[in-house]
Amino acid sequence: MNTKTAVDQGLMLPLMEAFYTIQGEGTFSGYPAYFIRLGGCDVGCVWCDVKESWEAGKWPLVGIEEIVEGALSYEGRLVVITGGEPLMYNLDPLTRLLKAKGFTTNIETSGAHTFSGEFDWVCFSPKKFKKPHPGIYEKADELKVVVFHKSDFEFAETHAAKVKENCRKLLQPEWSKAETNTKKIIDYVKNHPNWNISLQTHKFMDIP
Ligand code: SF4
Repeated sequence: MNTKTAVDQGLMLPLMEAFYTIQGEGTFSGYPAYFIRLGGCDVGCVWCDVKESWEAGKWPLVGIEEIVEGALSYEGRLVVITGGEPLMYNLDPLTRLLKAKGFTTNIETSGAHTFSGEFDWVCFSPKKFKKPHPGIYEKADELKVVVFHKSDFEFAETHAAKVKENCRKLLQPEWSKAETNTKKIIDYVKNHPNWNISLQTHKFMDIP
């Protein structure tokens, strides 16, 4: 099998980095987790803090067995697949293998591509820069909207109207604008209690 076919089938993936840390944000904040960051993103958020992930070709293609072996070398059995935009790839084989080895599988995605993979928790973080694929709304367990501008509250509500009823709804201040926006988010959540706040606690803890 050539490399392109292996990537198309999700048997090899461009791996930007993989590391064991503490999930800093969202519902699983505080949980030890093995992060698998795949290279490649076509969403183009202006405030993206992992712009180096955008170009998939910069990162080595790694077989899924090797990726899972890396995760198995740590105690925790929670994996977070992130990017870049991980749904640019077929995640069925990787997540199947992770689940066969006893992992809980989480994904963080902008939802901009067709869904794939077997996930226990789907964190959907829509971005203004590329429209989500409509299939993501029924998959999302958590809707996490990064607040960079005041118009992001309205943007958040537009997506909240489309997710499942039991989907968690989180507003998270964008790190560089946290000082300006956190107060607005606090006021918003107090007036709209169906929303909760997510903070990037890993940035306070100075961990990846
Ligand atoms: S979707 Fe994520 S990786 Fe892609 S540009 Fe936006 S913040 Fe960066």
